[in-house]
Amino acid sequence: MNVLVVGGAGYIGSHCVRQALAAGHAVAVLDNLSYGHAESVPAGVPLFSADMGDQAAVRAALRSHRTDLVIDFAALTNVGESVQQPERYHDNNVVRTVGLLQAMLAEGVKKLVFSSTCATYGIPEKMPMTEDLPQKPINPYGVTKLVTEHRLTELAGTHGLSFAAFRYFNAAGASSDGAIGEDHAPETHLIPLAIAAALGRRPPLKVFGTDYPTPDGTCLRDYVHVDDLSRAHLDVIPLLNQPGQAFFYNLGTGTPYSVKDVIASVGRVLGRPVPHQFAERREGDPPALYADASKVRRELGWIPRYDTLDSIVLTACNWHLARPKGFAT
Ligand code: UDP
Repeated sequence: MNVLVVGGAGYIGSHCVRQALAAGHAVAVLDNLSYGHAESVPAGVPLFSADMGDQAAVRAALRSHRTDLVIDFAALTNVGESVQQPERYHDNNVVRTVGLLQAMLAEGVKKLVFSSTCATYGIPEKMPMTEDLPQKPINPYGVTKLVTEHRLTELAGTHGLSFAAFRYFNAAGASSDGAIGEDHAPETHLIPLAIAAALGRRPPLKVFGTDYPTPDGTCLRDYVHVDDLSRAHLDVIPLLNQPGQAFFYNLGTGTPYSVKDVIASVGRVLGRPVPHQFAERREGDPPALYADASKVRRELGWIPRYDTLDSIVLTACNWHLARPKGFAT
């Protein structure tokens, strides 16, 4: 298929681009490069440097690539920042995404794979998390994704849009060949910060909260390898052949790991300890978030190939060792 990956120069998008190429799709990328890295787009893949809210530019890209399907990763994704700048999050994640959808429908493109988040659930009522839990987000980031999920559902009914929305847990790791990986500025995520602390590139890691109601007192999360995550976006494509279909999947491995587990894993993989200190809880962090992944496994046959934390952390370590300054190296 002719696939336009919106946000395809970003962390998850760039991994999905490679997987889509390997699966035989004709791929183009549209990215405003505000956070994405043009260097991550493989040679030969057309890069439309434009904002998804720019209708004229998006329509031109859709036409020029003769697009059958859009995979949309373009979003602001930092929970803490969304609390500080809710209007910016609403503008980018809702208003501009609606612009993208309008451009798609105007060009007759009615298939979409959309990046959503487990943050749409807020503080879940039960664990592991199934797709039918009430969605009550507790931060503007989660709200923007939930609002967009609702808009997609409306468009499935009114315009025959077929879509799948994946509610991500914690994307982690890097491509196995070490060519691309996580390069955020500023970096706020646990695994890259733990690696940087172990390598002496950053101060000791702060462990946000040690008094949570979890087995070791630190937060539990579901770390899923970015290549496994990306692959699900391609696995779902055959389901979008019928018009007006809506699919929602939690996308995590289903195995929870604590912050202390991550520190131990990075220490094992690098063969040196992660200097760390215990700190206050970070505002807005639920104690535990992990998926019941049975729906995505059953319906898409999706099985994570990276099924241990160490195997995920190893790919991240290889990337950070090879590229100390990320794509700027
Ligand atoms: N965390 C931490 N120290 C850090 C960054 C994160 O203890 O410097 C914890 C955070 O409180 C959460 C887990 O690590 O429990 C994963 O955080 P991350 O920001 O990587 O992802 P999130 O779960 O917030 O999407």
